[in-house]
Amino acid sequence: MDILDDIAVTLDADGMMERLHMGGKSPSFKVLFDELIGEVLPVAKPKVLFKVSYLDGRTEDSVTVEGVEFHSRILRKNLEKAERVFPYIVTAGRELETIPVEKGDVMREYCLDAVKECILEEALLHLEAHMQARFQPGTMAHMNPGSLKDWPVSQQPVLFSLFGDVEGLIGVKLTESNVMDPIKSVSGIHFPTEVDFKSCKLCTRHPCVKRRAAYDPDMALHYKWG
Ligand code: SF4
Repeated sequence: MDILDDIAVTLDADGMMERLHMGGKSPSFKVLFDELIGEVLPVAKPKVLFKVSYLDGRTEDSVTVEGVEFHSRILRKNLEKAERVFPYIVTAGRELETIPVEKGDVMREYCLDAVKECILEEALLHLEAHMQARFQPGTMAHMNPGSLKDWPVSQQPVLFSLFGDVEGLIGVKLTESNVMDPIKSVSGIHFPTEVDFKSCKLCTRHPCVKRRAAYDPDMALHYKWG
């Protein structure tokens, strides 16, 4: 099991505004982003917890990793040929919860949320680069509990059980409804694949601001999904 917590965070107001399609908007947004970035950078401490794990077994609709059984027909199909997988939990960090937002300051709250999201994305990219450099797994895809009904969020504690004391290790805990706290955290399993798999391709939710790929009816057919 590895923890990566030396993750360089780079943020700039112009990049943030471009990301949010706010280019050309009022200069007061740039002032707000500059202010927020100035507050966030000194405290930001994103963290990655991951491990290299091997499959123990498969049934028709489950896979077992290090003795822990995951129930998901799609995960099972994705791991048809895999032996080695990379379970992970990534967080933008509890430290960001200390940045104050006055009640009712909707704009600051919105922009701070975007900044936290950016930090989380940087941590996820850091993990991917680290795995490629250290383990050379080739093309990878990932699945996250809760992104599809097939692998519901109720499987989150099962994934956490692979790591032990996640809160003690990186400050992330699960709420009663199995949502991660801090909310700007992501968990899942990276796996080697020859398929350009993305859960979004099997997901019909619309609209979704986080969509990373269009719904793909051929892929849905391939996975016998939907
Ligand atoms: S479209 Fe949205 S809800 Fe569906 S899997 Fe992608 S990110 Fe998740």
